[in-house]
Amino acid sequence: MPRVAVIGAGPAGIAAAIQLTRAGHDVAVFERDRAGGNLWNAGFVENYPGFPGGIAGKNLARLMDEQFQDLGLAPRNADVREVRKSGTGFTVVTDKEEEFDGAIICTGTVPRKAGFPGEQELVSAGLLHYGISRLKNLAGSGDALVIGGGESSMDMALSLAEMGQKVVLLHRSEPRGIKRLLDEVAGEDSVTLLQGTVLGARIHGEKAVMHLETSTGKEEKPFDLVLVAVGRERNLPALEGIDADDPPPGLRMAGDARHGGLGQAAMAVGDGVKAAMELGRELGK
Ligand SMILES: Cc1cc2nc3c(=O)[nH]c(=O)nc-3n(C[C@H](O)[C@H](O)[C@H](O)COP(=O)(O)OP(=O)(O)OC[C@H]3O[C@@H](n4cnc5c(N)ncnc54)[C@H](O)[C@@H]3O)c2cc1C
Repeated sequence: MPRVAVIGAGPAGIAAAIQLTRAGHDVAVFERDRAGGNLWNAGFVENYPGFPGGIAGKNLARLMDEQFQDLGLAPRNADVREVRKSGTGFTVVTDKEEEFDGAIICTGTVPRKAGFPGEQELVSAGLLHYGISRLKNLAGSGDALVIGGGESSMDMALSLAEMGQKVVLLHRSEPRGIKRLLDEVAGEDSVTLLQGTVLGARIHGEKAVMHLETSTGKEEKPFDLVLVAVGRERNLPALEGIDADDPPPGLRMAGDARHGGLGQAAMAVGDGVKAAMELGRELGK
């Protein structure tokens, strides 16, 4: 029975692993964080078929994980450092090395940094995050700054408003996104849009003091929490003997790891199923 490694258990990896298991492959799934991937950062998903009225990203992630676990597909908690072409198959390197006949890489994207002085210090102090997935127990009505002008930043601003935060959404150019999100942000009293840039940041007590430049000039403002959503980029483990844009037989890229910035869960799922079916045919199932 061919052994297949699925690397990453976001929507693409989950869909690929389910499909491969149905076809009778011996599947090992590697996940360094939580099954469900970036859906844990999505506030509300309304474009994923099957959920009339939409569904919270975290609930969709939970349901995907549940279906996954039901099939006995619990991922190994492991960070894949490298995938190497080896003979007729592939070596997957974590803290050990393992051989597989085929592999599907579904490692998604990582967030871009905003790049202002003091950003890393805020991260280290737990005051700055790149998603909502790890935010817990936010104190009542704190002041939050969300940096970015795309759909993710608006989605995150709305999530924070729902958690009781007063949110400033700092955007460099006009916010871009689908009309529903733009309307919802415009109609949310707890979210204020502010055009400007971050010049730097420092920590004072338990606050992030942000040095901002806006149309009214330069000013410092304290925040309890800062979220950065200025785009995401393709994330891949180190590859040896493998061209990510022209993968060899026996290997596929699926989901956001293949599409890069396009980023939609339904596309990732379709891509995962397609990769699994193609690979299955190649490996003789
Ligand atoms: C704020 C926000 C809102 C969104 N809203 C929507 C929406 O409304 N509708 C929609 O369709 N989509 C939405 N998305 C996008 C959607 O979440 C992604 O398109 C989708 O999750 C991509 O799936 P994926 O499996 O390709 O990658 P990911 O979900 O990124 O999963 C990749 C997985 O691989 C794991 N991984 C990475 N590297 C390694 C490694 N080296 N070793 C082991 N594991 C690894 C990661 O931990 C992760 O679990 C939103 C995203 C964000 C951030």
